[in-house]
Amino acid sequence: MVLGTEEIIALEKQYVLQTYRRPNLVLDRGEGVYVYDLEGNRYLDLIGGIAVNALGYGDSQVLEAIGRQANRLLHVSNLYHTEPQALLAQLLVEHSFAQRVFFCNSGTESIEAALKFARKWGQSGDISGKNEFVAFTGSFHGRTFGALSTTWKERYRAPFEPLVPGVHFAAFNDLDSAAEAVTDKTCAVIVEPIQGEGGINLADEGFLAGLRQLCDERGALLIFDEVQCGLGRTGNLWAHEPYEVQPDIMCLAKPLGGGLPIGATLMTDRVAQTIEPGDHGSTFAANPVVCSVAQVIFRRVSHPTFLASVRARGAELLSALLGLQKSYGVVREIRGRGLMWGIEIDADVQQVLERGRELGMLMGNAGEHVLRLLPPLTIESEHVGELADKLGQILKELKA
Ligand SMILES: *Cc1c(COP(=O)(O)O)cnc(C)c1O
Repeated sequence: MVLGTEEIIALEKQYVLQTYRRPNLVLDRGEGVYVYDLEGNRYLDLIGGIAVNALGYGDSQVLEAIGRQANRLLHVSNLYHTEPQALLAQLLVEHSFAQRVFFCNSGTESIEAALKFARKWGQSGDISGKNEFVAFTGSFHGRTFGALSTTWKERYRAPFEPLVPGVHFAAFNDLDSAAEAVTDKTCAVIVEPIQGEGGINLADEGFLAGLRQLCDERGALLIFDEVQCGLGRTGNLWAHEPYEVQPDIMCLAKPLGGGLPIGATLMTDRVAQTIEPGDHGSTFAANPVVCSVAQVIFRRVSHPTFLASVRARGAELLSALLGLQKSYGVVREIRGRGLMWGIEIDADVQQVLERGRELGMLMGNAGEHVLRLLPPLTIESEHVGELADKLGQILKELKA
């Protein structure tokens, strides 16, 4: 390392477009579930690169896959067939409701693809005039025009209007509201089974089934955005599994590439049949290195023993959080499943994040009052204990 912490921060502040407010530390390396800054301070990672680092840092199988495939073939574009793409597609299809996969490079892109495919489906064969979307309050689907148009937060949308027309918002977990919004013109309803950015809000037991029924009645597709909650995060491979409802399209991204960028839009034959060569594409998508790593991630995370350990750590985490809630009144509500938790607090969450960093913990937030925890899925009981101790100390200070 040639540069010091202050120099790096100064350079970034001068040259990088300031779309993020970052704390004053520079991360330098990671090991297991810990990251280290340039000064050598160690942090327990409870945000995992925003639900990306499912296997933590420095996983030997991930590193081996990168090295092996990078030596063989790094990039050829989608003009040619490659083995890693074919094998990853097979894995995703064989373990889901879907028959086809479209690969892209991020969550937002997986949403854009889903919206485009739904529009194409809505005007093919016997179908015509279906080009509208229904999304929900509290939703987050990304930052490009289509994804942004279906994202709830006014502050994200307003500066960039006019957005994609034909998007209607219904209230999350309110089937009456959804029934009003979904019409014969709706080509798709898009929903996160567990909202991430919106504050870790779980779909109620019958909500997704109700949406499925509405979509079937009115002839619309159902899109699940599992970019954050999918791929083992909830202790099930797919977040929608416990709801026993299947979508027509599902979007994946964050953890799929083990830290390398990838997105995937999964769909049924009914949707796939309406898409032809030339309808959509991407130069970088399904990069052979990323697809090799993604196979490692998928095999590991989808293993029943691995998923059981996510549920077990999740149960420990919840019981620790409930203990903290009981001891310190500042905790209003605890929401989540598996290793995806939102802790609503009667305090400024930024203050909690800052104190957490001082104590050697990186946490996230979802809005102004929800602390968000998305640790690597490989955390162990001792790490849950470390979190409980340190968060307990912070809540105690808040209460005082
Ligand atoms: C992060 C996220 C996205 C956007 O993904 P990017 O990779 O940041 O483009 C979309 N949907 C959900 C639910 C997300 O959490």
